[in-house]
Formats: sequence, structure tokens, C-alpha cells
Amino acid sequence: MLPRIDHVIEKVKLYNPSSDDKLLQRAYLFSAMAHEGQTRYSGEPYLVHPIAVADILAELKADDVALVAGLLHDVVEDNHSVSLSEIKKRFGDEVAHIVEGLTKIEEKLPGGERNEWATLRKVILAMVDDIRVILVKLADRLHNLRTMDALPQEKRPAKAKETLEIYAPIAYRLGLGKMKTELEDLSFRYGFPEDYARLTSALSAKRTYSEGFLEETRATLEKILAELQVKGEVRGRTKHLYSIFQKLQRQAIAVEQVYDYMAFRILVEEVRDCYAVLGGIHTLWKPIPGRFKDFIAIPKDNHYRSLHTSVVGSNGQPFEIQIRTWQMHAEAENGIAAHWKYKEGRLTKEDEEATIAWLRQLDEIRQGSQDSAEFVQNLRVNLFPKEVYVFTPKGTVMSFPHGATPIDFAYAVHTEIGHKCTGAKINGKLVPLKTKLNSGDRVEIVTSPGGKPSRDWLDCVVTSRAISKIKGWLNQQEKLRAIEIGKASLDRECRRLKVHLKEAQEAGRVADLLKKLALADLDVLYAEIGYGKVAARTIARRLVADQETIPAALVEAHMEPSKGAPIIVRGASDLLTTLAKCCKPIRGDEIVGFISRGKGLVVHRATCKNLQRLSYNPDRILEVAWEPVSENAPALHDVPVTLHTEDRSGMVASVTKVVSDHKAGIRHIEGVLTGGGEGRIKLVLAVRDKAHLSQILRQLSRLAGVIEVRRDIR
Ligand code: MN
Repeated sequence: MLPRIDHVIEKVKLYNPSSDDKLLQRAYLFSAMAHEGQTRYSGEPYLVHPIAVADILAELKADDVALVAGLLHDVVEDNHSVSLSEIKKRFGDEVAHIVEGLTKIEEKLPGGERNEWATLRKVILAMVDDIRVILVKLADRLHNLRTMDALPQEKRPAKAKETLEIYAPIAYRLGLGKMKTELEDLSFRYGFPEDYARLTSALSAKRTYSEGFLEETRATLEKILAELQVKGEVRGRTKHLYSIFQKLQRQAIAVEQVYDYMAFRILVEEVRDCYAVLGGIHTLWKPIPGRFKDFIAIPKDNHYRSLHTSVVGSNGQPFEIQIRTWQMHAEAENGIAAHWKYKEGRLTKEDEEATIAWLRQLDEIRQGSQDSAEFVQNLRVNLFPKEVYVFTPKGTVMSFPHGATPIDFAYAVHTEIGHKCTGAKINGKLVPLKTKLNSGDRVEIVTSPGGKPSRDWLDCVVTSRAISKIKGWLNQQEKLRAIEIGKASLDRECRRLKVHLKEAQEAGRVADLLKKLALADLDVLYAEIGYGKVAARTIARRLVADQETIPAALVEAHMEPSKGAPIIVRGASDLLTTLAKCCKPIRGDEIVGFISRGKGLVVHRATCKNLQRLSYNPDRILEVAWEPVSENAPALHDVPVTLHTEDRSGMVASVTKVVSDHKAGIRHIEGVLTGGGEGRIKLVLAVRDKAHLSQILRQLSRLAGVIEVRRDIR
């Protein structure tokens, strides 16, 4: 259904009863006449577009001048029979000024292409005089993105990129949170269609889990509100796509590793409720240090106010919570509408001085810029104050995100310079590699042939390029190590089974086996052994000359981890896994994986105290599960257990009997008298799983003389 001007006018009347609907009707008719016979890429009548733009402006609670300018924003450009002076005559100076600011410039580049930057420069400059110029421009861009399906494919990426670089940041600066989010998600979808498809499908795979989690957590949060007797609303959501994508890029991680992609928002009536609710949340869940932000006490540059905190939920899942009043929420979504009083297009409220100062800066940039290209370059710098600009020794300017170090710089120059980097000079002085770069620094990298990346570097780089190159190098090293380990253990097993690897190779048995296992070459097989994915023993047995003696079932065996822990890791099957020594998880325990430096993936019990500390690093947490148990799984889990007993003779003997009755093992046993006629028996049991352990502990607790039985954990 085509949008109708009546609907727009109705909407406007709701927030501005004194709006001049005759004026809006007149602008609509004028626009209809000017665009007569024109169609959009979609084949729809062109008029659909200006009405949709006016509708978006009405959502932003724009005044009549902005609405009229929205209806007329394309008439001069698309229909050369309409002149600016005619607009001025019919609709006044202000409308004409806005329409002029939005009309594209026909300036051509030396190559003959239209100079898009010149147009952009003009829009920004007109905005300095009248903020409504950019409001109309943003509404225009938003509608064009919403209808981008109709635009030829090859035209999409440039629009998307420009939106992400210029318009979304402007929307952000103006406090138009909702507009910024939609601009970003649409630009992401059309500018990076492959990444978009990958991310949406990965997230929809997580949906069942997410929905359950959102529901459950929302219920808990509502309970907190009820207990505090605070009236409020809890909203749970998946964070917007582009912000998740940026996080993936920034940290160079796979989508499976993004844990805090869910967020909650709590809307309350009073400022004091915000802090009360925050206290309730921090009492229930552990806050992640450094993630609590009080934007109520200290609002952001764009006046955004809210409390933010990230906590670790009961299942180890970190998530973000924003707490704000309804008023703050309205301001965050639609800054101008909720907050700004604008008169003749200029901001008047005193507390908007920061924004005015920002607009003035734009004007200064204009005065200091030689041409449009330079202006746009300078504008980018201004829109992203978080970037630093540094010089190479040859004087080339390079830009980095705030917080970048010489290592980021080295990798940006060349991968090998990154790998071989051993030191850095900033402005001629030697500095530590973790020194943060500042704008204007001249950076020089010192390399040495023996230099190599270190895992610690990951803590002091911020660019995705450096992160992925360092991770790539480390993975390569880990693979080389796995090959070495794998080769050594296969050699050992072969010696044990008296298999001559050379002979087996010459007889083609190695090649046959590789083919059956679908492995490219012997190194890959070594690596599989080294990573613990396949047992050296299994391989050695399959290389025995007489293959007929090997049961077919062993062909499947290579997928089962025989080294390391019996754990399935989602999305990172190549990791070496071990069970944490602190909490000693056993099959059946709820578990969480944590990527430990140099140790691969360490699996902890979900309740482990250490893990709670480690959860401050949510990006290193992986979802893991026990492998399905096989019928004759060996009793392989060691569990420390302590018995508090009376001092009786035969106590240790009756304990060992219970254990052996249950076909469990005893790795260690030690009894001490603690005085007062009591004693303690410390045991290390070898059990199949949690159920097995529980049976044994139950039996032990029923023994005469046993006071207390407990599984030792931190
Ligand atoms: Mn337009």
C-alpha cells in the first residue's frame, strides 16, 4: 500500500496540534506535480519517496518546515523546471535553504564522474546553518536504504559504505539511537551481503537457546523488580546485527565465540529506581569488572544517559543490562524529538552547547579544507574522534583505532614486519611494544630475523588485522607442535607393535589408511594424533601388515578423542582439551570451556570458583559438552573425596570395600586422626561419571562411623 499524506498529517497532529495541515497539503500537491510521471527503480511512482521521507520525519517529531522540506527535497534536482526561487516564493526562505542544501552538485571529477564528495560537503555545511538539513537527509537516506532491494546490485556497496562512514555516526552524534541502528543494520545487509547472510544464519541457529535464555533471564529480572517494589519493564533482545559484526571484526573471532550477543533493557520511572535495580542485579549476579558504566552521572557526548553493566549469569553466560528511565529511553532513541527544542533550525537549549561546539568545528574544518576530498577526509577524522593518526618514517599517514600500539602499526605495514617486530621507536625514542599510539606520532619498527609473535601481544593489539595475523601464526606453531608430538607417539606405538613405518609406507599401507581416513598426508595424520583426535595406538594397529585382522569398527574410531578430555567443543574442534585441575570435572557435571594461554581449552565445572573469575574474559569461554558415553567407557575420572569419620578400627577397609563393590578404582587413600575420637580419610576415586560417583558417595555416607562425605572442590 502506498503511503498517504493524510496519515502523515494525522501523525503530526498528535505531537504538534498547531501544525499547518494546509501547508503540508500544498507541499504534497506541489511535489506530486513536480514528480509527475517519474518512477523509482522499483517501478513505483516517485511520489512514494517524499511521502515516506515526511513520514520518517514525523516519527522524529519534526516541525512543519522540516516536513515541507522533506516533501520537496528532490523536486529541484529531478525536475529542472522547478527552481529554488520558486520554492522560496511558495514555501519561504527556510524551506528553500534546506532544499538547496540537499540538492546534489553537478560538479564533475577530472574523470568525468560526478563528485559525490562535493555534494556531501554541501549537505554538511548546510547542516551547520540549520540542523533540519541533516534530519531530512537522514530520513532520505533511511528510506533509500529501506527500499534498496530495488537498486541495482552494483550501486549498493558505495551507498552502504558512505552511510556507515558518515551518516550513521552523525545520527549517533545527534542522539538518534534508533535511526543510527537501522541505518547500520541496513548498510550492513546491503554493503556486506555475504557476512550478513553468514551472521543471520549463525544467529538463527542459536535462536532456540537464545529464546529460552531471554525468557528465563527476563523472568528473573522481573522478580528483582518485584522484590524491590520498583515499577518497570524488562526487555530482552539480541543485540543489533551490525554491532555483533563489528565485535567479530574487532576481535577476529568466530560467531560461535560471541557470547554476549544478548542484552536486556530495564525501563523504570525514577532515577533512583535505576540504582536500586542495579544493586539488586549485582547482588544476584557477579558484575564483570570494567564493564559498569554510569552514563547517568556522566552522560556521553551526545547526552546519552543510562546505566550499563555486564554480568555473568548462573550458567556462565555473560550478558549486558541497560537500566534507564522512560525519559532517558525516549532521548536515547530519538534525541532531537525528545530533548531538543529547536527554533529556526538552531539549537537553543543551553545544555546542547557541546553539539553546537561540534557543529562549529565542522565549520572550522570547512574553512581549513582546500577541496571537497580533503574536507570529507577531515570530516571523517572528526566523526571518529576515537581514531589516531600517525606517521611512517617516510611521512605517510596511517590511521588506527584508539588504543592501537606499535604492533598494530607493524602488522598494518606488512605481516612479516609484524612477525619479526622486536621493538619500536616513537618520535625517535625507543618505547615498549605495548605503548599506545597518539595522533601525530612518528612510528618506526625495529625488526630482527629471530623475532616472533608472542601470545601476550593479543592483549595489546586492537586492529583485527593484527589479531588475526598473530592468531594465525600461533595456530601454525601449535600445528607444528602437534605434528611433532603426533610423530613421536606414532613412532613409539609402531615400535611397540613392531610395525615398521618405512615398510608400511613402501607397501602402500600408509597411503591406503590416509585415503580411508580422508586425510591429505602423513603430516595431517601426525597433527590429528598430536591434537588428540586419534590414538597413535589405533593407527599403529591399522598399519599392521595383515589388515584382515582389524575390525571394521576401528575405521570410525579416529573421530573419537583418545587423548585429552572426552569433550565435544562447539565450533573449535581443533583445540587440545584438558580437564581443569582446580575443580576436576567428571562426566555428567555441568561444564564450561575456557581457552587458557598455552594450555588449549581447559574444561571447568560450571560452578568452579576459578571459572567465575575467568568469566571476566567472556571471549575466551567456549560452549562444551561431554561426548556421548560408550558402553564400556573406562573408569577414567579421578575425583578427590574426603570422609569425616569416627575413629573406628576397620574404617579404611570398609571404605575400600564399598568402592570395589561399585567397580570403581582407588588412586590414593590416606587416613589421619584429627583428635576427639574422629578422623579424616582422603581418597582419590576413579569413576565413570557423576552418577557412578553419586552412588558410591551415597553408599559411603551410609557406612557406620561415617559422619560426612564430600567431593573436594574449590
Ligand atoms: Mn530523496
